Amino acid sequence: VSVVAGVDVGGTNIAVGLVDEDHGVLAEQQVRTPTDGPEAVVAAITDALDDLGGDPEAVGIGAPGPVNHGVLQSAPNLAGFTSPVALADLVAGATGLPVVLGNDASLGVVGEWVAGAARGYRFVLGIWAGTGVGGGLVLDGVPYHGASGGAGEFGHLVIREGGALCGCGRRGCVEAYAGRASLEHAVAIEVEAGRPTRLFEIMQEEGKDRLTAGVWKKALRAQDPMATRLIDDAVEALGIGLGTATNLLDLDCVVIGGGLAEKLGQELADAILAAARPWMLVPDADLRVVVAELGDHAGIVGAATEARALIRQGADPKSGE
Ligand SMILES: [Zn+2]
Repeated sequence: VSVVAGVDVGGTNIAVGLVDEDHGVLAEQQVRTPTDGPEAVVAAITDALDDLGGDPEAVGIGAPGPVNHGVLQSAPNLAGFTSPVALADLVAGATGLPVVLGNDASLGVVGEWVAGAARGYRFVLGIWAGTGVGGGLVLDGVPYHGASGGAGEFGHLVIREGGALCGCGRRGCVEAYAGRASLEHAVAIEVEAGRPTRLFEIMQEEGKDRLTAGVWKKALRAQDPMATRLIDDAVEALGIGLGTATNLLDLDCVVIGGGLAEKLGQELADAILAAARPWMLVPDADLRVVVAELGDHAGIVGAATEARALIRQGADPKSGE
């Protein structure tokens, strides 16, 4: 069996998996993400690969930030990554294996495209709505990363000039309405203004210490007016962004992932498509909006897919994005 490794580097955990030719995850391991800089992260990845064994032929890594030619340009969620880090070269040096590095959101879309909800489509946009809103593209059957690795930033499409403040420092981005951090911020402002909500009551009933996707779902089911309005705003923002993206790219599949998509399922996907229709130049286009299927495995499988492509290209450790 030909095995490659897929690595998903997150702000909290690093997930490492061995993946076969059919995109099956044969074995996997999670370790805490070290907080003392790039060398420690490289060592953690190398150790996890050693522990898994399995003799992988190549390694694909997804990292939380823009990636250009094997270099992670910036990573605000990784402690100690204060300047660009040549993560592909560092892991290649430590393991002796060919390594390809990509953006985590982009590779998650690749995972869903080869083995998940976007299987069989050729023009795919992935939207990951978590703390922020990430994205990635497959265009004409090829993962698309752009001129310098920055393509697919769906969360920072501006849908309202001068709108809500986004985590990126600009105003009116999709993420400023649909990211979990932005939603929590909006709740805080509304509560400050004296508006009632059952969100925090439900949070306590559920034994949570923050507004998880499950808490939002319960609040929607209880017809909490604040939760309903904010999620309606989030769906509207995602819909405007999706309509705009579709006009530019003529997509055939949009895959939506992240906590809220997993909890609300196809109902959320349908609501986003309905919100997108008025903005689409071809409103009856045969566009599917589906919910991600692979969960945490999407990043590992997508990274492994790029590792396999690297072997086919002849193992130049700096190729790929
Ligand atoms: Zn933004």
